[in-house]
Amino acid sequence: MANRIFNFNPGPATLPLPVLEKAKEEFVNYSSLGMSVTEISHRSKQFDAILEDTKKLFCEILGVPQNYKIIFLGGGASLQFSMVAMNFLAQGKSADYVVTGEWAKKALKEAQILGQPKVAATTEPDFKRIPKQNEIKLDPNACYVHITSNETISGTQWAQYPDVGTVPLICDMSSDILCRKFDVSRFALIYAGAQKNLGPAGVTVVIIRDDLVEKCPEKMPTMLNYKTHVAKNSLYNTPPVFAIYMIKLVLDWVKGQGGLAKVEEINNEKARLVYGILDKYPDYFKSAAEKESRSIMNVTLRMKNEETEKMFIDEAAKAGFHGLKGHRSVGGIRVSMYNAMPLEGIKKLVEFMEDFKKRNP
Ligand SMILES: *Cc1c(COP(=O)(O)O)cnc(C)c1O
Repeated sequence: MANRIFNFNPGPATLPLPVLEKAKEEFVNYSSLGMSVTEISHRSKQFDAILEDTKKLFCEILGVPQNYKIIFLGGGASLQFSMVAMNFLAQGKSADYVVTGEWAKKALKEAQILGQPKVAATTEPDFKRIPKQNEIKLDPNACYVHITSNETISGTQWAQYPDVGTVPLICDMSSDILCRKFDVSRFALIYAGAQKNLGPAGVTVVIIRDDLVEKCPEKMPTMLNYKTHVAKNSLYNTPPVFAIYMIKLVLDWVKGQGGLAKVEEINNEKARLVYGILDKYPDYFKSAAEKESRSIMNVTLRMKNEETEKMFIDEAAKAGFHGLKGHRSVGGIRVSMYNAMPLEGIKKLVEFMEDFKKRNP
């Protein structure tokens, strides 16, 4: 692990070391072509193989049913906030948004620019929790329901996805896709920016059910229509070739770990350790999220004052734990522990936390 730190950045985030090493090894001369993967044509048979392998790995790892398509787009998850509304929020109709945090709010904002969405539930202003099923006011005539599976800033995550009946469920899974097993068939569309659990920034994965593709309007900018990218298999224009290649390596790594069952087990163990110390010293490391809504990807906490928090962050960095500062809008401490954060990093961090408390009671 030459010169590697424990990187707790919230995104772009740490990637598995074997993935980085594999990319390095192949970077200058990919597959004996005498060219880098960043230099080959997106219409070459080598890239075609990367694209097909990546889709196949997603299907296998997530259990994506036959009636879904997987596409790779630019623009980040943030462009999906607009694309979802542009494609599916029909004129004169509404869509239901469950507002669980800053990301959900941004998704809602884009829908408000384009139409008349409704807030089906909100846990504003502090977003300490995910709403309960009976708090969510669903409109059976809504075009879709939009949720955010994990909120990176407040550190909350849906433990159980809501039951929305027959209305299509659309989910922003940017910060927790691949962290645990879930049933893809409950969703009509899933999108995820890559830079937390999937790979480098620059590509967004969209998993879309066939009947939704059919619903995309004809009259709309070509690049913003899901139908274009499905019809052209993500090759309407030049896709983010290198980022997709990196996702393939990450998926190979996930599979090599033992798939989602194993990854979930490790993530649960990591969460048990960090929340364990929060629960052991609740007045010292104050959990920002309510217990039932806690995220296993981003742990948020406050300490007695900002001075102590600053000292904690600085000392942690000196000890090799980087990126623990909370989001600038909320302050405090945030421990982002995506799939690629090794269990060892969490064990050492928890030891550091224990020691810090002893030294600064
Ligand atoms: C990080 C994140 C985003 C933002 O993604 P971009 O790719 O920067 O647009 C959106 N939603 C969630 C849930 C995120 O965690």
